[in-house]
Amino acid sequence: MEHRLEHTILLVLLTTASSIASSREEFMEAVAYLRNYGYLHVPLDIRDQNYPPGKVEEVLRVFQKVTGLPPSGNLNSATLAMMHKPRCGLGDTFNNNSLRYRVMGYWRKKTLTYRINNYTPDLGQARTRLAIHNAFKYWSNVSPLRFREVQQGTADIKFSFHRQDKTCPVPFDGRGYVLAHADGPESGIVHFDADELWTEGKDYGSNLMVVAAHEIGHALGLGHSQYYGALMGPVDNGLRSNFRLHPDDIQGIQALYGKPEKHSPSRHPGQSVPGRSIPDPCKAAMDAIMLGPLQKMYVFSGQYVWPVSDTGHSTPAPISALWKELPGNLDAAVHSPRTGKSYFLKGDKVWRYAGFKLDRGFPRPLTTIPSNIDAAFYSIQSKKIIFMKGAGYWQWDEIGPTDFSSYPKTIGHLFHGFPGNPSAAFTWLDGHIYVFKGTWYWRVSKHSQAVEKSFPRGVKTHWMQCDD
Ligand code: ZN
Repeated sequence: MEHRLEHTILLVLLTTASSIASSREEFMEAVAYLRNYGYLHVPLDIRDQNYPPGKVEEVLRVFQKVTGLPPSGNLNSATLAMMHKPRCGLGDTFNNNSLRYRVMGYWRKKTLTYRINNYTPDLGQARTRLAIHNAFKYWSNVSPLRFREVQQGTADIKFSFHRQDKTCPVPFDGRGYVLAHADGPESGIVHFDADELWTEGKDYGSNLMVVAAHEIGHALGLGHSQYYGALMGPVDNGLRSNFRLHPDDIQGIQALYGKPEKHSPSRHPGQSVPGRSIPDPCKAAMDAIMLGPLQKMYVFSGQYVWPVSDTGHSTPAPISALWKELPGNLDAAVHSPRTGKSYFLKGDKVWRYAGFKLDRGFPRPLTTIPSNIDAAFYSIQSKKIIFMKGAGYWQWDEIGPTDFSSYPKTIGHLFHGFPGNPSAAFTWLDGHIYVFKGTWYWRVSKHSQAVEKSFPRGVKTHWMQCDD
């Protein structure tokens, strides 16, 4: 009897010791998960990941609420199990004071094309296509959006399967955990993890149609929902073929694109899809101009870009053919010969490229300068990047610290004689700055820091070298 009791005590001790050891490990794992998906931010002043007391509990409660668990704030086994479930690779950023759907952007047209670049061998070509076709139906049923598959050329929404490789700046993680990721409008990138077992109408594996419908939701502009039953919830909750959209999904897509049209207008075969026409460099409005990389001049307009040289312009190509992840209708583009980086701004985001390769972690939100910048250029004199908006400008040091509290300053302090609200700007190799507005451009002398006398000139005849 005594012997048995001793044995029991020993067992209890062993069990307790092992649960303490694993819970410390589990705690660190949970913190890593919460950081990875945007619940916890890395404190700038703390290197060893110590968070203020109660912070981890606070965000655990949010995670538990979003994933349909009792919001205890305790790292219990159900919460850990939820963190091991397959999920979407995008972070869980929610609205601060509202449970509502979150919006990441929108398309300025309602008919979108899509292209499937490769297929999962688990389903084969025909069933992969059917799954994605059916995934679009969830969204076209409750909105005026229409989707059309194309087999060649550039499409608005681009699907592909890749694994833990270099084909995407964000590699996948093998089977399980992250299933897919996507970019918001107007990028249209949707990637599936090729290491998953993709299935259709089965109770095992990952249901391609449901995961595709979720990622299409991102591609159309919806972020993650705080409702566990919603299609846009972050964790794959085992939704199967017969699931329906949650009211939060429907309200979100209708907030972006409106309700379905009662009589959808029938398009004649062969009629062109609006918004996809190739611009004429002699007439098009310019969104941004950039010198470099490779000391080449690039003009951006809508979805297109074309290089300009001393001998004139060349044929426009889709922006995504050169900078794969970039959306169209950019606000500004600037290349820095100091760091070799190119920056592209649109809305409240910035994309940074080394050559034609997107840097890790981009696009990022603009935090120190306002959204919807007019133009940007590199100043050879100050070795800084200048952002312009309206009558103001901000000067940014890429390498050293910048005190943004003294900005914006008026453009008049930078150079005299320019009316403000530029549409594009760049510094030419000789150090002169060219500023564009509508159909006119001005040259700022590097010697006088003022607009030269014979300007403005017409973009079309003088700069693009088009015949009148
Ligand atoms: Zn997602």
